[in-house]
Amino acid sequence: MPELPEVETYRRFLDELVVGQTITAFEVLDAHVLGTPEDTLRPALVGRTISGTSRLGKNCFLLLDNGQVLVLHFGMSGDVGAYRDAADAPRFTRVALHLDSGLRAAFVDPRKFGRIRLAESVAAYQQAKKLGPDALELTVSELTDRLTKRKTLLKPLLLDQRLTAGLGNWIVDEVLFQAKIHPERIANTVTAAEVKRLHAAVQLVLTTAIAAEANYRNFPASFLIHAREWDESATPGTDSHEFCPRHPRTRIEKKYVGGRATYFCPKCQPEPAE
Ligand SMILES: [Zn+2]
Repeated sequence: MPELPEVETYRRFLDELVVGQTITAFEVLDAHVLGTPEDTLRPALVGRTISGTSRLGKNCFLLLDNGQVLVLHFGMSGDVGAYRDAADAPRFTRVALHLDSGLRAAFVDPRKFGRIRLAESVAAYQQAKKLGPDALELTVSELTDRLTKRKTLLKPLLLDQRLTAGLGNWIVDEVLFQAKIHPERIANTVTAAEVKRLHAAVQLVLTTAIAAEANYRNFPASFLIHAREWDESATPGTDSHEFCPRHPRTRIEKKYVGGRATYFCPKCQPEPAE
């Protein structure tokens, strides 16, 4: 599922491709991914110039020269692509923006859970969707404010997009591991020093993932993610990825927290006292 690091990688790709370009045609191959009707989108897009891109959590925005924005949400399997001739369209291209450069920007989505919408502005979309500040922009004091009043489990709270936008399931596990905090801590018991560690871990995990263009196998061996075994492990031919990078004899544990598969080190992330 495209998380914040993938969406930031897509945004950078689109920024190179579309900024300064005028949309010459709006091609819909499968209207399933449209969150705004096609007959509203086409006149809103064709003839407009794209003045920039931005991102909030897992949402990518193409900024139009009249102030409106095209919102791209990538669902379970969304991706972006570029091509020149119709025959070269990536497989599962659902929508394409034809640009005056002669290139086409493709919205690719095999499973069709992604959505393309028109919004009046990024701020209007953020308000309508009740999204908190982007996880990379979140400050220590905002994080402190959002945790101190809450008597709920830490992990589900960090996943709540109203608290901050862009923290998904594996990211929260990695953040809690790097910050050495158990996922079932009650939010208002987290100390000021721990909030600082959490904030630093959010920055570390997201900037590392973006620098690796979200290629998980290139993440440092000090990351918990290798225990998830999505990919070949970082240590082929051994089972060392099943153990804590800091405690080579302690096996990473898995349990369900708030209904979500959760990985943690029982030594680094001590269970909360009763
Ligand atoms: Zn450990």
